[in-house]
Amino acid sequence: MKFITIDKNDWTKGIDKSRETYQLFGPVKDKNGCLIKELDTDVLPDMETQESVMSAKSVLFPQSETILTTSLNEAVEDHHIMKRAKNDYTPRAVLGIRPYDAKAIQLVKMNFDTDDFRDPYWCDAYEATTFVGLAITKPGPFDFSTSVDCGPFCEDGLDILLADLDDKFLAKVLTPKGESLAAACGFNAIADDKESQALFDILKKEAEKNIVACVETDKLKEKVLLDLHEAPFWDDVAFSCINCGTCTYVCPTCWCFDIQDEAKLKESSRFRNWDTCMSPLFTRHATGHNPRGVKVQRVRQRFMHKLKYFLDKYDKGIMCVGCGRCVKSCPVNIDIREVCHTMNTYEKKD
Ligand code: SF4
Ligand code: SF4
Repeated sequence: MKFITIDKNDWTKGIDKSRETYQLFGPVKDKNGCLIKELDTDVLPDMETQESVMSAKSVLFPQSETILTTSLNEAVEDHHIMKRAKNDYTPRAVLGIRPYDAKAIQLVKMNFDTDDFRDPYWCDAYEATTFVGLAITKPGPFDFSTSVDCGPFCEDGLDILLADLDDKFLAKVLTPKGESLAAACGFNAIADDKESQALFDILKKEAEKNIVACVETDKLKEKVLLDLHEAPFWDDVAFSCINCGTCTYVCPTCWCFDIQDEAKLKESSRFRNWDTCMSPLFTRHATGHNPRGVKVQRVRQRFMHKLKYFLDKYDKGIMCVGCGRCVKSCPVNIDIREVCHTMNTYEKKD
């Protein structure tokens, strides 16, 4: 670990230099808000906007991704044999990722990279990616990240953490990947470790003071799973939900997907596309049977997965980093903080 300072006058030049080695992604503002996109050669990441509408999960897990391809042309030797698609896993860097989104990637990793199973598409993209975080100094009103073991200066999953000091960035280089990116940018002005860490600590405290929203999760682990599953409050929670799926698409820790095949002339491809547990189609079997055919079952699934199943399975906290996007985006104001409180304090009546 080391600290470096980056004069903002050198920022553009350094970023441009890194493009020789890295494909760059970062927050970009357009008419739909701030989104994480691949940066064209003349585009710099937006380091001013504190919140982005979407997280960086699409950098590793695109909304639609070709995973297998085959030829249907019988004249081709290995026709009809599905082969892994030739996707691009050359080095890439996400600049200005928010710390809670980097932490979310570590939670998603528990699903895609396990002892039993390694998702090659996600893992190869993960290994190719360097994450440069921008500490949040003015958290929004929906941010409750400090109460879920995260926060505006959280370092989990980051290779570099930047703090904006007006005329310069102070960069905490956390990993060898971070060092390689800093070197590729030509950022090498070493700062004093002790002074820099003290400044980070002050800024962190200031930022955390501005987070007023919180959730209580302390009793979730001890709750009996079936008691929560059968609890009577789910009808109330689900009543206004329109199953639009927005909460899951904006969530950096949601990973549901669907697989589809498509054939064009003599070429066939298999895709995986983001899907949502809030959609009735997601669990409908080929027979027509649907184990979650009723809205309340789907809403319950989303919250039980995030706040109970994940916690019970991994014992690493809940599957939420407190970014608040689902609260802000839900058209009917369903609030995970309230649901979490209801679950955390629920007592079954005999
Ligand atoms: S965003 Fe709100 S209404 Fe839409 S699926 Fe999620 S909880 Fe339901
Ligand atoms: S559940 Fe909501 S608050 Fe938690 S990480 Fe997902 S979008 Fe953010």
